[in-house]
Amino acid sequence: MADLLALSSRYIDQGIYEGPASVNRINGQLSEVEDGIAMVEAFSHVVALKSEQGLVLFDTSLEAFGGQILRALRGWSHDRISTIAYTHGHVDHVGGAGAIMAEAAEKGHPRPQVIGHENVAHRFSRYHLTDGYNSTINARQFGGAPGKTNGFISAGMTTSFGPKEWVTPDREFSERMGLASGSLRFELFHARGETDDHLWAWLPAKKTVIVGDFLIWVFPNAGNPQKVQRYPLDWAAALRAMAALEPELLLPAHGLPIAGGERIAQVLDDCATALEVVSHQTLSMMNAGMRLSDIVHNVKLPLALMEKPYLRPVYDEPEFVIRNLWRLYGGWYDGNPANLKPAPDQALAQEIAQLSGGAAQLIARAKTLSDTGEYRLACHLAEMAALAAPEDRSIHGGRAEIYEARMKSELSLMARGIYGDAARQSREAAGKNS
Ligand SMILES: [Zn+2]
Repeated sequence: MADLLALSSRYIDQGIYEGPASVNRINGQLSEVEDGIAMVEAFSHVVALKSEQGLVLFDTSLEAFGGQILRALRGWSHDRISTIAYTHGHVDHVGGAGAIMAEAAEKGHPRPQVIGHENVAHRFSRYHLTDGYNSTINARQFGGAPGKTNGFISAGMTTSFGPKEWVTPDREFSERMGLASGSLRFELFHARGETDDHLWAWLPAKKTVIVGDFLIWVFPNAGNPQKVQRYPLDWAAALRAMAALEPELLLPAHGLPIAGGERIAQVLDDCATALEVVSHQTLSMMNAGMRLSDIVHNVKLPLALMEKPYLRPVYDEPEFVIRNLWRLYGGWYDGNPANLKPAPDQALAQEIAQLSGGAAQLIARAKTLSDTGEYRLACHLAEMAALAAPEDRSIHGGRAEIYEARMKSELSLMARGIYGDAARQSREAAGKNS
């Protein structure tokens, strides 16, 4: 068993950062963080609590981790699993439920009750409508074409997006719910944040807060470019509501558990502040009538916050949160009249290529810009060059190089995934026999 609390104390107190894998550990191992409270580190974690009526679990991880989660839990307790609470309906939180149900059936135990917010079932319905889309974007986000084996994909995300069996909550709530299991008493609170179906739990007797994805030891996933709406200010308010309870133990669904009132207060305040600063700056610029492009390039987050070991933008990033806020509070029109009813991308690219002396000129200039680190401009020109001359293998070779350089220059997994995907497409196009 790892001493996860000692690890998180060291990182927080000394401001040490040893890379994403040091805080988001996905090893399938169980660690007891306090008497009767354990965490299995996976994608997502599973938080387990012993009660006289059986084990209470928060989240179930991905389907592919189901077996490993059960083995880890059974090394700690043979009690029946009586309750599963989903912190939200993302596949990495609900996918392992099928394995847990199967184990209960096999052992002749009563089926565990599943608790979740009332929007979890709506989410599952949406996933059925958008299965192909979600497979595609997850493959892109986590770095691989659909069906290919790497990272998240090999962890169970093959060609179909979700688990074989979606286990829907059989006890739902909308705002707040009390939950008892033996002498354990929880308060469940709904708040919007990463999702619209999120809950967090308070265990007053242990001054423990179970936070799901409200705290994930990276910059909040509040901007994700390929996914549905996130709620940054509701998210910050939820973090402040947790802080007001003065927790002494915090158990997240990704990253490390944290002990100690002051330490937890600091982390909750920092994460809430980061979301509030981005939101308030964005809103004040929206209210001043600025265009989206100008807002994206003018919002500034204090560097000191971004350097905290639990706020590194290695997954999502503030720039994406600004766009998400624009979508939340405004319409899709970005303030640039040319973008209201634009020409097809390819027609515009052909026009610009002609003006500049051909697609080869565009890609040559793109390479110069990329070599000097002007990746934003370089990508515009490379994209136009490839749109203007989609069959040209040398242009695809140039585009691949530029997106590879761009990918290496980026910190966030989301940006790296999308640029890596573009580079891969052009590598393939460049290698085709003409
Ligand atoms: Zn998650």
